[in-house]
Amino acid sequence: MSGVVPLAQLTTMRVGGVPKEIVRCETSQQLYEEISNSIKNHEPFHVLAGGSNTVFADELSELKVIHIVSKGVEVLRESDAEVVLRVQAGEDWDEFVSWCIERGYAGIEALSGIPGSVGATPVQNVGAYGQEVSQVIVAAEFFDYETLKSELKPASFFSFAYRDSALKHGVRGVIGFVDFRLKKLGGLSVAMASGQITNHLKAEYGSQLSLKTVRETVLTLRSQKGMVVSQDDPNSVSCGSFFTNPVVSHAKSLEFPKEMQMWNMEDGQVKLSAAWLIENAGIEKGFSLPFSKAAISAKHTLAIINRGGATSTEILELARYVQERVAARWGINLIPEPNLIGF
Ligand SMILES: Cc1cc2nc3c(=O)[nH]c(=O)nc-3n(C[C@H](O)[C@H](O)[C@H](O)COP(=O)(O)OP(=O)(O)OC[C@H]3O[C@@H](n4cnc5c(N)ncnc54)[C@H](O)[C@@H]3O)c2cc1C
Repeated sequence: MSGVVPLAQLTTMRVGGVPKEIVRCETSQQLYEEISNSIKNHEPFHVLAGGSNTVFADELSELKVIHIVSKGVEVLRESDAEVVLRVQAGEDWDEFVSWCIERGYAGIEALSGIPGSVGATPVQNVGAYGQEVSQVIVAAEFFDYETLKSELKPASFFSFAYRDSALKHGVRGVIGFVDFRLKKLGGLSVAMASGQITNHLKAEYGSQLSLKTVRETVLTLRSQKGMVVSQDDPNSVSCGSFFTNPVVSHAKSLEFPKEMQMWNMEDGQVKLSAAWLIENAGIEKGFSLPFSKAAISAKHTLAIINRGGATSTEILELARYVQERVAARWGINLIPEPNLIGF
């Protein structure tokens, strides 16, 4: 067991009280055993990794926190065209992305700068700038809370969708490691499916660019929005986007003004811009409720930030206020993206 510290210290939002205990798990076996014991003893527990998508309540004194800090990257298979890597859950995601780029492995370069752990990426099918981890995940080891057994599951088991997976809908378990299949394209990226990246580089949509250039561009674009966690950027004290972009039917999307950014999805549905809906419900960048230390990021309407010393109650009050304003103006119920624990 490690020292019990306020969970604010282990999360990027920097809120959360002192739990009953924090157990650090350095291997997947240790993780599975710890969870098994908690389940058998009917002990309430929560699995925490990088803490970048979690808002903990201020009062959590009955909660046991199981902290994943396992490390290791292993080459499983390699050919001239691709490589399959097995990565332990507690590895830092962005360090892994950078490591892959150094070696010329393509497929996750647009996911540069996303904080958190490797093992959490399947949970919400982490994505940005036209890439999602589901495009490169081959399998993951899954420890099932019902059977208390671990098994290597194929990607299809996780039913990945936009910012979503079966892990968010009743499939209860933890991931010990993830297997990724990446391409070797001579230092080039996969075809870029992000207009923001290609416009920034004055390149053609769908072109392949240098891996390093893609990473630098993504880090620049993300920093402009406060989406790279940095001590120097008060707008990055957040969970990233606080709400997912709402997905509606094509017919419903026609009810919204044409100037709103929308994305057509493969299944025929349409993704609306949550940032646009918030801004056009009258909530501006930097907005905060009176006397609150929670605010909308000054760089991005979709992020709620802790301006310093905010309570988790203040964070959620602002989130609820945003939801109410958007629902009243647009009839859309914004869904929070972070995991809200202990409320
Ligand atoms: C500035 C900023 C920018 C961000 N940008 C993006 C972005 O562009 N795209 C995006 O998708 N996300 C983004 N995020 C959200 C976040 O980085 C990701 O969701 C990340 O994958 C969370 O990882 P974590 O280890 O910090 O998870 P945690 O916050 O520790 O946990 C999140 C959830 O996953 C569960 N979990 C953690 N590890 C495991 C595991 N091994 N097995 C099963 N469940 C597990 C936890 O129990 C919890 O429910 C951003 C966050 C911040 C702060």
